[in-house]
Amino acid sequence: MPSSLPPPRRVRARLCRRPAGDTSGDTVWLFDLDNTLHDASHAIFPAINRLMTAYVARVLGCDEASASRVRVDYWQRYGATLLGMIRHHGVDPADFLRAAHEFPELADMVRVRRGLAAHLRRLPGRKILVTNAPQDYARAVLEIAGIRHCFERVVAIEQMWVHGHLRPKPDRRMLRRLLAQARIAPHRAVLVEDTVSHLKRYAGTGIRTAWVTGYLRTVAPSRPHVVPAAAAAGHDDGSRRDAAVRSTLEAEDRRHAGHAVQERSVTLVAAETQAPQAQPDNVPRVRARVPNRPAYVDIKVQSMHQLQRRMRRTGS
Ligand SMILES: [Mg+2]
Repeated sequence: MPSSLPPPRRVRARLCRRPAGDTSGDTVWLFDLDNTLHDASHAIFPAINRLMTAYVARVLGCDEASASRVRVDYWQRYGATLLGMIRHHGVDPADFLRAAHEFPELADMVRVRRGLAAHLRRLPGRKILVTNAPQDYARAVLEIAGIRHCFERVVAIEQMWVHGHLRPKPDRRMLRRLLAQARIAPHRAVLVEDTVSHLKRYAGTGIRTAWVTGYLRTVAPSRPHVVPAAAAAGHDDGSRRDAAVRSTLEAEDRRHAGHAVQERSVTLVAAETQAPQAQPDNVPRVRARVPNRPAYVDIKVQSMHQLQRRMRRTGS
């Protein structure tokens, strides 16, 4: 079982050699990965959710029903299962994320739109991938999608430590450091994302924003699934352990109240914010009702094809 925090050392983003495609112009595109470049809601996010619950159950020594309740608790308090697991159980974030992203069948789970690589290549400007997912997963998805060569570097969650704290998107300090390290003036950067709350958080930092809506499936963000009471019935031991865990957490929360509030603004890996809610089989999935473009969104598109056509037309 993982037991210690990783040293807060700085891990440099891995560079890809000679990115292909049109790198002309002043624009630097900061691309999100999941549900921006490929459809993660289809199979990957549900799988990540299952793996996270199994991991929590292993660490806590409880059944999955109890682990789900703990996840819901952490999600509500910290915005991420991971942040709760770091705070209360000292788990190694790298170990947690690796376990939650192990997919032997990844090649069968990645879905991309036809022509994705060509659209990215034709989009003028440098391209950097910025994802809250782990490095190995991100690079594997890029490889499967046939677009790894389009990016000059991959900035994954391992590169998002700032002054000893994990600061994934939409943390502003992490973004400012990334822009400074890559020598990018904020007005040249465009963050391309499906998670509109991330774009909102970065409003006022000087960067531009592009909202990709093509893979949005549900209106409500997802969260760790709550196990129905019926499924948890008969697990008295699990309930007792769960009550004990909650009692410990409440005591810790009282001790760290100020810190807990501070960390609530930090969001988590993409799966928890974006995966669709688990629904019974007989309930049809709800297609996203995408509102009009908010003021903090500069460009709203459905796909990379649309983004590339619009930039070609207007210049970037
Ligand atoms: Mg995303």
